[in-house]
Amino acid sequence: MRQYLERIEQFRHLNAFVEVFAEEALERARSLDIRVRNGEKLGPLAGVVTGIKDVICYRDHEVSASSNILKGFTSLYSATAVERLLEADAVIIGNLNCDEFAMGSTNENSAHGKVLNALDTTRVPGGSSGGSAVAVQADLCLVSLGSDTGGSVRQPADFCGIIGLKPTYGRISRHGLIAYASSFDQIGIFGKNIADVAAVLQVIAGPDTYDSTASQREVPDYQTYLNEGNKSYKIAYLKDALHHEGLDPEMRAGYEQFFDNLKAEGHTVEAVNFDYLDYVVAAYYVLTTAEASSNLSRFDGVKYGYRTPAAGLELADFYKKSRSEGFGKEVKRRILLGTFVLSAGYYDAYFTKAQQVRRLVVEKMNGILSCYDAILLPTVPSTAFKIGEKMEDPIAMYLADIYTVLANLTGVPAVSIPLQRHSNGMPYGIQIIAKQFDEGHLLQIANNLLQ
Ligand code: GLN
Repeated sequence: MRQYLERIEQFRHLNAFVEVFAEEALERARSLDIRVRNGEKLGPLAGVVTGIKDVICYRDHEVSASSNILKGFTSLYSATAVERLLEADAVIIGNLNCDEFAMGSTNENSAHGKVLNALDTTRVPGGSSGGSAVAVQADLCLVSLGSDTGGSVRQPADFCGIIGLKPTYGRISRHGLIAYASSFDQIGIFGKNIADVAAVLQVIAGPDTYDSTASQREVPDYQTYLNEGNKSYKIAYLKDALHHEGLDPEMRAGYEQFFDNLKAEGHTVEAVNFDYLDYVVAAYYVLTTAEASSNLSRFDGVKYGYRTPAAGLELADFYKKSRSEGFGKEVKRRILLGTFVLSAGYYDAYFTKAQQVRRLVVEKMNGILSCYDAILLPTVPSTAFKIGEKMEDPIAMYLADIYTVLANLTGVPAVSIPLQRHSNGMPYGIQIIAKQFDEGHLLQIANNLLQ
């Protein structure tokens, strides 16, 4: 534990942590040591040093969603995922920087300042769970939790050269996860190997009476899946994704080479059409901003955190001023967009249309997955951006989510695993998608392909 705490100090400049729970983590480590000496049986994650994204509640600890509007707010209860980590004897070492309310792809929209990519500090780590990715990348903790609404676990994992899993929607309870877009949000896991990620999923997945969208399905034993190695799989890749004009040509060549290698190893790899790719980013941003505009209405200066110091305002003006001062630019942009697409005159043109696109994409995706074990596609069209590169152009930033939002629109589980290094020195990964609730096979395939 001391070694981790020293490393955290040494890598302060990366700005991955919002707060380090140093004393408390040491205390917990000591008590675990004593229990080991007493011959007690410890939980499955005993001593596993874990970081949590600053949108996940941990009782009596501050949580801010990296927003000024929640500055100084202390959680009254712990997220179910956190409760389960603690019951399994993991040690929570601190909370991790992210984009404000998990909105972003670079971790530059944070009230706590930007996070740097440890492999090249002139580049972003990705977002919104940038701190969670960098903490694992730089060995500041063993595993971490993030949240993935449109790619926020897989995309920073890709940019940082590590593994990022977004489970099926409903696999992990969202109780205690600060909501961005409730029909998309899912807690995800970062790690450096599949076995670690599987072990954490095993503990935190499963039904929860505090979240009616958490599935009642039993959680299978993931280790059994990992023990069965070396199978041949039937894999599809999306032709439209591979030939998309936005994809870096060197990465495209890398993926093609990888598919050829898989075929040579005896896997079936086939191209399938996916005509809706150009609509998924638009549908995602219409639906998620709509949900966000509703979810974020609770931050009104009265119930939580920040309130304007201005005196003598009418109630409506007090709300407006508190929200104008408390929220950052990107969050305000999304609340405005979401309010617009839900407004009476535009509801059918935007919100209903986007829901129809979502339905078509779900059907298409399920169709492909009924014929194949997995779908492979890039995680992001490029390697990590330079700091500041996309900040003036939100549309360019949104378009980079093209490959990740698919799994959130459809709810299927997806994992990003590191694949290769680009000639610019940065890593890039590949994304694997499997059927709903089939994390077992997803992790097994990822494990086999990583070798
Ligand atoms: N980049 C996406 C967005 O800005 C993803 C965010 C997320 O998954 N939390 O919405």
